[in-house]
Amino acid sequence: MGKFPIADAELAKIWICKKCKGRNYAGAKKCRRCGSQYLRPKHKDIKVKK
Ligand SMILES: [Zn+2]
Repeated sequence: MGKFPIADAELAKIWICKKCKGRNYAGAKKCRRCGSQYLRPKHKDIKVKK
């Protein structure tokens, strides 16, 4: 969880294309920009301290 809960919720819905860094909706089969199938969920656990 980051500083902004709303932003975290939005990030959780976004996948990033490994090829062109384009944003895609989570669950997308392939990138809508370049057609690449190499997508990853956007990191949302950056710098979390416990
Ligand atoms: Zn792409």
